Amino acid sequence: SVDFRQLYVLCYVNLLELLGQTSGIGIGVLVREHGNLSTLDKFYFGFPGEILMRMLKLVVLPLIISSMITGVAALDSEVSGKIGVRAVVYYFCTTLIAVILGIVMVMTIKPGMSHNSDELDRKGDTPEVTTVDAMLDLVRNMFPENLVQACFQQYKTKRKEVVPSADPDSNITTAQPVTIVMTTAKNLTKQYTVVGMYSDGINVLGLIIFCLVFGLVIGKMGEKGQILIDFFDALSDATMKIVQIIMWYMPVGILFLIAGKIAEVDDWEIFRKLGLYMATVLSGLAIHSLLILPLIFFIIVRKNPFRFAIGMSQALLTALMISSSSATLPVTFRCAEENNKVDKRITRFVLPVGATINMDGTALYEAVAAIFIAQLNDYPLDIGQIITISVTATAASIGAAGVPQAGMVTMVIVLTAVGLPANDVTLIMAVDWLLDRFRTMVNVLGDAYGTGIVEKLSKNELEKMCLPSEVDIVNP
Ligand code: ASP
Repeated sequence: SVDFRQLYVLCYVNLLELLGQTSGIGIGVLVREHGNLSTLDKFYFGFPGEILMRMLKLVVLPLIISSMITGVAALDSEVSGKIGVRAVVYYFCTTLIAVILGIVMVMTIKPGMSHNSDELDRKGDTPEVTTVDAMLDLVRNMFPENLVQACFQQYKTKRKEVVPSADPDSNITTAQPVTIVMTTAKNLTKQYTVVGMYSDGINVLGLIIFCLVFGLVIGKMGEKGQILIDFFDALSDATMKIVQIIMWYMPVGILFLIAGKIAEVDDWEIFRKLGLYMATVLSGLAIHSLLILPLIFFIIVRKNPFRFAIGMSQALLTALMISSSSATLPVTFRCAEENNKVDKRITRFVLPVGATINMDGTALYEAVAAIFIAQLNDYPLDIGQIITISVTATAASIGAAGVPQAGMVTMVIVLTAVGLPANDVTLIMAVDWLLDRFRTMVNVLGDAYGTGIVEKLSKNELEKMCLPSEVDIVNP
């Protein structure tokens, strides 16, 4: 049944967010035009926003660790049988397709790039790491040598110019802990020494891989593992409660962040870029939901995907209004079972699990937003970092709860993973109110198509089960 109290709270949260964001823009413009604030005043003015960013960064570590471990450990007990495995394969493949689509779109449209390309050409002069170096760094970061160190440092290859005749060892900076000197490469007239070093920033990739393996292992350990699962489950609940508290502070924090940013913007070009960024996210979401997902559905199910989507229209509209896939769940159930006649044994597993871990829209948005922020900062991304963005955007969408703007909280994870300034989330916050609605709609649509696809693929098992559809598929 529909929980009206929950819907009411969500409408309230949405309203507060909107109020925070619009008054942030208004106050920012006012302060800018009439405030006559010095740079220092503007700095103080943005202080409540700075506190919000600090709180968001604070929850990154417990969020990654607890949500990854409990997510994987729970899958092991819930994904019993082929139906569960199929659902998870579907979630994973469609999320990855969404991320790749997002990356292709943002790299083609380049919403964050300046028109002034001279500046960029000059940047091209600096020695960059090669593709091989980048790939090796990626793999190195996947296997941190020290778990505690992984919580605040990640591995990064740097090139250092050397005078050809000099002893390469003497050119290595001692300011950073140098681990190895790998090779000396000739680059036209200059020579560079490749040095391995650690740079600041959480090694998100390493932690995700470790937590995945750890979750899988404890999920299979039976009774002994249960103590650990319970522990991380409790940690996850506690972290989510803290995130909820932060969410209540969010409208205030966002107001000051946006107002502060607008008050200090010199370059109005940023608004053109922001508009292009929104267009990129929205067209990516449109391609994914109107082309890719229906195509996958049609190839597998051989039914009209748009008729299926129309059957889900009430759920899609609810998602658009309240920007929460979890709160939309009761409506999603009703539409799938009553309008589209999907077997209850399938919806009962695919929808609730999907509402928490299958978020195609969120994954696409996170990938676009991260690369957009890199473009704004003229921060060149190598192939390893782009792969890191794909992996972390996928993980961040799995980690995001199905509540309004959860994707923006986990966005900090993706930015941290590639060393981008997490504070730049401020910029995209101003328009998140709108994007959140549309990505939530795509998240719900992805779960809905999943029910049709998994039902079709599991036809044999369902017939063999020959049980009334009321029987729980997890424990038939
Ligand atoms: N609001 C989204 C959802 O509930 C999550 C997000 O912020 O991306 O599905």
